Amino acid sequence: MAKTTGASLKETLSIKLDYDQLTNCMRCGFCLPACPTFQETGVEAESPRGRISLMKAVVDGVMEPNARFEDQMNHCLGCRACEPACPADVKYGQLIEQARDAIEDHTDQHRLWVKAVRKVMFKKVFPHQNRMKLLGKGLRMYQKTGLQTLVRKTGIVGVFSKQMSAMERILPDASGKGVIEQMGTRIPAKGEKIGTVGLFRGCLMDVLFTETNKNTVKLLTEAGFEVVIPETQNCCGALHAHSGETAQAQALARNNIHAFQQANVDYIVSNAGGCGAILVEYDHLLHDDPKLSEQAEWFAKRVYDVSTLLMEKGRPLQFAKQKNEEDGVRVTYQESCHLRNVMKGSGAPRQLLKRVSDIEFVEMRDAGSCCGSAGIYNLTQPDMANQILDRKMENVKTTKAHYVLTSNPGCLLQMKLGIDKHAKNDGVQSVHIVDFLHDRLVKN
Ligand code: SF4
Ligand code: SF4
Repeated sequence: MAKTTGASLKETLSIKLDYDQLTNCMRCGFCLPACPTFQETGVEAESPRGRISLMKAVVDGVMEPNARFEDQMNHCLGCRACEPACPADVKYGQLIEQARDAIEDHTDQHRLWVKAVRKVMFKKVFPHQNRMKLLGKGLRMYQKTGLQTLVRKTGIVGVFSKQMSAMERILPDASGKGVIEQMGTRIPAKGEKIGTVGLFRGCLMDVLFTETNKNTVKLLTEAGFEVVIPETQNCCGALHAHSGETAQAQALARNNIHAFQQANVDYIVSNAGGCGAILVEYDHLLHDDPKLSEQAEWFAKRVYDVSTLLMEKGRPLQFAKQKNEEDGVRVTYQESCHLRNVMKGSGAPRQLLKRVSDIEFVEMRDAGSCCGSAGIYNLTQPDMANQILDRKMENVKTTKAHYVLTSNPGCLLQMKLGIDKHAKNDGVQSVHIVDFLHDRLVKN
């Protein structure tokens, strides 16, 4: 969406917010129990209904968009659990992105370090895969040369931010080489080919979770897909869109559409719920771009989460516990909000897990409720994120699971953070579902 120069925040909100969506809310409150920030606070303004009322009050001229208003918009996790609960089909996700886009045009009140990190990461790093690789190499050096040990001993990161310091402790091993360098751009199907899949490798995903990308390719080829990894693809733009940087998100989307169209794929697969949810909505993100709307629709209707594609279109895979694994392994599953609420992909991961013989799947209480990760929410709103995580970890512990599986790197890191904080000695670990399944794949 274009920047509105010279307008007040109130005017910008009036231009950017979809008034039909605001009036679609009939104030029934069915969404309230689904909302994690309302659950934590019990405050109406921290609920979807409350936030929509605030937006409408500003547009109607009943109130000024003051700092409290901006806080309520920023406290929202963007988890979109309110959408499936809403009988009026209010597109809350679109409203909160429009509100944040307007606020971002006017705001200069981020904390200094948040501002600096956002500027560098959103504009200079995430959009450029070669810089992401450099970041990966830098992180790898940091982890392997002893610098990490020194930093931890001095506690210097904690001086700037306790949350950053906690995140640093659970950072996975970074890779200097992405999935393309390790596997190539075209990997043939095993056996008869069912179709061609374009792998969306992600930006952070390919630096911090390269093994998961490789394992995704291996599961897909085993299920009968040829996998193509377009080299010119870039970051999905989710973090940008959720933080009000809509124009930047649109630019990234245009490039991805072009990259995957050139590859002429039947399906586009993501193994990160947060990325998949924006990929599947590129048609909405680019709805006001008449030149690209058709291509955006082409792209959006091909997007699948890896579990869903394997379940719905792939040759059935079989899984069994690992050779040296003891009996009685218990697993539970923490849903990715965006996979659940936007991509409607709750069923497939559970169905795949039920195919693993000799393991016990235990459903966690409130598995579909946000873990508090929410993109960079756990860095920008650490108090609420930690409150939500504490509640989540009580539910994890009740399952007595050995593995908490997830379908999104942000959730995976948040679960690691929770385990580090609450269950260090409980013998539980957090793993991406793709890695868990890959390690137990029974090859034909
Ligand atoms: S997106 Fe999530 S946190 Fe935000 S209002 Fe909806 S349910 Fe609440
Ligand atoms: S459930 Fe939908 S219609 Fe009802 S209050 Fe929430 S957003 Fe409004």
